[in-house]
Amino acid sequence: MKYSNLFAKTTKSVPKDEIAVNAKFLIQGGFIDKLMAGSYTLLPLGRLVERKIEQIVREEMNATGAQEVLMPLLHPKEIWNETGRWDSAKEVMYQFEKNEKEYTLSFTHEEIVMDVIRKHITSYKDLPANVYHFSTKFRNELRAKSGILRGREFIMKDLYSTHETEEDMWKYYWQIADAYLKVFERVGLHAIITEAAGGVFTDRLTHEFQVESPVGEDTIYLADGWKYAKNEEIMNDEDRKAPGLRTLKAIEVGNIFPYGTDKYAESMNVMFTDKTGERKPVWFGAYGIGITRLMGVLVEVFHDERGIIWPESVAPYQVHLVGILKNDPVIKEKAEEVYEKLLDAGVEVLFDDREDVGAGQKFADADLIGIPVRLVVSSKTLQQDSGQAGDKVEFKKRTVSASELIDCDEVLSRLK
Ligand code: ATP
Ligand code: MG
Repeated sequence: MKYSNLFAKTTKSVPKDEIAVNAKFLIQGGFIDKLMAGSYTLLPLGRLVERKIEQIVREEMNATGAQEVLMPLLHPKEIWNETGRWDSAKEVMYQFEKNEKEYTLSFTHEEIVMDVIRKHITSYKDLPANVYHFSTKFRNELRAKSGILRGREFIMKDLYSTHETEEDMWKYYWQIADAYLKVFERVGLHAIITEAAGGVFTDRLTHEFQVESPVGEDTIYLADGWKYAKNEEIMNDEDRKAPGLRTLKAIEVGNIFPYGTDKYAESMNVMFTDKTGERKPVWFGAYGIGITRLMGVLVEVFHDERGIIWPESVAPYQVHLVGILKNDPVIKEKAEEVYEKLLDAGVEVLFDDREDVGAGQKFADADLIGIPVRLVVSSKTLQQDSGQAGDKVEFKKRTVSASELIDCDEVLSRLK
């Protein structure tokens, strides 16, 4: 992609009420645009990152045997009345009336997926039925001040599983926990499994995946001998006496819920016939990852004073090629040549080909955007390579300050 053609470039103007680091850098870098509190457009650069995160999650969910679907965002009141959540979760939902009928925008999909599943399963042979989607959630968040960490509208991956037995449910539950750890590792994060209460979702104990961060809204506790951390909300008096107790600020990036049969399967009559011919409710579990929140967490965790430092696995491009052109046709030609060479080798490149922007601004933009590798073609790189008509470029990683002058072929082998 030539930067001169890219829609939405870097900007200095950030809305005054935007205080979160993730929002500041993402807005300045041209990744997102703010419509109102808690509501953002993903611009081309932001969408590229979001799709890379999505693809990692998709691969790990598919590896568990789950299948991708896409469920509606506009829901009739009746379906939410089946579990009583039209009233009990009213606070968080965007409910409204149109032509004398009541609806809500989706804040989650348990009721919707259970309606689909009950229509498509009859016997134990149809189980497990495990489906997931990536879609928008709408939530009436009162404190929408953390940029894309807490949106009123955000992208979630939610997976729902239904099983024949409790044992099957737990087996899959821990399989998903492992898959989640892989997802977070692949995007460069260390996630801490944390026991937590289920809120408007369930009375059972659930597990959250928390990433340590000073801006985290959650406080979690760890202690000697505990297998999992505990969220402050569930800490009892006994827990507070545990040896080696310590505390961390953290951001929840995902969570998993072992619902069982009561709240959803029984109230919505999601039944199957078992091997003996008996009708039974399915064992139900749900598993969420906040995709756009994860993108915000990456910025909170990986940045310096100059901008974002994307992990390679989710960077919008692998290489940021900067041409210091100075109206010199030789340098321009050389920069174009390097760009083509990288593209031919299948490298994802953002090429700053702007003619009217100086070196200082281009380097500042590259640091702000945060692509892992920066390559520079300039009069300097041409001169120092007098031998082969300048087949060298300046190579620098976003994480280090030193640069090196190397062959284009060497660049390609390093990228592999
Ligand atoms: P939180 O405790 O942060 O309010 P939650 O427990 O309500 O989140 P879930 O309903 O379980 O969250 O959603 C699954 C995942 O979606 C969360 O782990 C989080 O990563 C993400 N998420 C939840 N609410 C938001 C939001 N308002 N904006 C962005 N992501 C969110
Ligand atoms: Mg939570």
